This record gives sequence, C-alpha cells and structure tokens, in this order.
Amino acid sequence: YGDANQKVDYVFKVVLIGDSAVGKSQILARFARNEFSLDSKATIGVEFQTRTLVIQHKSVKAQIWDTAGQERYRAVTSAYYRGAVGAMLVYDITKRQTFDHIPRWLEELRAHADKNIVVILIGNKTDLEDQRAVPTEDAKEFAEKEGLFFLETSALNATNVETAFLTVLTEIFYIVS
Ligand code: GDP
Ligand code: MG
Repeated sequence: YGDANQKVDYVFKVVLIGDSAVGKSQILARFARNEFSLDSKATIGVEFQTRTLVIQHKSVKAQIWDTAGQERYRAVTSAYYRGAVGAMLVYDITKRQTFDHIPRWLEELRAHADKNIVVILIGNKTDLEDQRAVPTEDAKEFAEKEGLFFLETSALNATNVETAFLTVLTEIFYIVS
C-alpha cells in the first residue's frame, strides 16, 4: 500500500462500472486502502484512487476510477472511459436486477471504451451467500460467452478483491509489455 518514492514503469487506468449499491466504492476502498465501511456514502468529488504494485519486476501504478453516483443509464460520460485499459463490471449476487443490467453496462463500455480493453465481471457480496439470487453458473456462462474474466468477491471480508485486480492488471501488463 502507498506510492511512496517509487519509480513507475506503467500507469493503467481501470474503470469500475455497474449499478448503484453493488459495492464498487467498497471494492476500491478494499484494494486501495484495505478499508471497508458498511454505511458508505456515495463517493463525491474523488475521481480515482491509485495503488502501485509490482508485476513481473515492473512497477505498475493502478489508477482506479469510481463513478460518483452517475450509475443511471447513460449518465457515465465518455470522459470516464477515456484512456481506460481495464474495466470491472460489478453486480451484487443478492440482487438479480444488478446482474440483469450487466449486458447494458457492457454495451455502454463497448460503445465508449477502446476495443482491446480488458474486462472482468465481478459478482460482489459473497459473504451474503444465504441471500444469493444469482447462481455462479449463470454469471460464468455469460462471462464465457462474452469473453470476460469472472470472479466472485466480498469487499466486506476481502475475498478475491486482490485477485480480481491482479487478474485485470496482469492481463493488461501482458498486452502492453
Ligand atoms: P456502489 O454504489 O456500487 O459504490 O456501492 P458501495 O460501495 O457504496 O456499497 C453499497 C452498500 O453495500 C454499502 O452499504 C456497503 O457497505 C455494502 N457493501 C459493499 N460491498 C459489500 C460486500 O462485499 N458485502 C456486504 N455485505 N456489503 C457490501
Ligand atoms: Mg459508489
């Protein structure tokens, strides 16, 4: 954690998208600061957070962009997607509707982002397994069909959050290096 005095070999912009309240801001808080809050307010003012990590002996600065309450359809502007080399498409495993909206988000992404963007589908809140409304298999099948990486995460207990970011960043690294 922290970016102190490190030489940076690469900067990768990654955008978080998906419906409101699926946990995008908490996934980012977990990754960037190893923090989690159960009553997170809509992020206002902060456009992105960074964390520098080492991949294959190179220093990679991940610049992760978070929507500031612009999750309504078509409200995320093209500026948000500009220059992004990775995207995390997040739904809540306890809210079927947030998964049903994923094709829409993917369409948005494909309309605005670079066609070679690396995309991972993320089913968040696996700590709420007893309230699951989206079977893992459905999401896995969708991801395979669309050529996306796929993982289920919990920002609350930190399951797979690090792995999700590393999956995207490592794939980007292989593409650009
Ligand atoms: P966003 O609108 O997509 O940025 O969603 P937030 O990150 O603000 O999270 C919305 C709500 O879900 C907040 O109350 C979070 O504390 C909660 N939340 C986020 N991630 C998780 C998780 O992994 N597990 C549980 N149980 N709650 C979560
Ligand atoms: Mg948010």
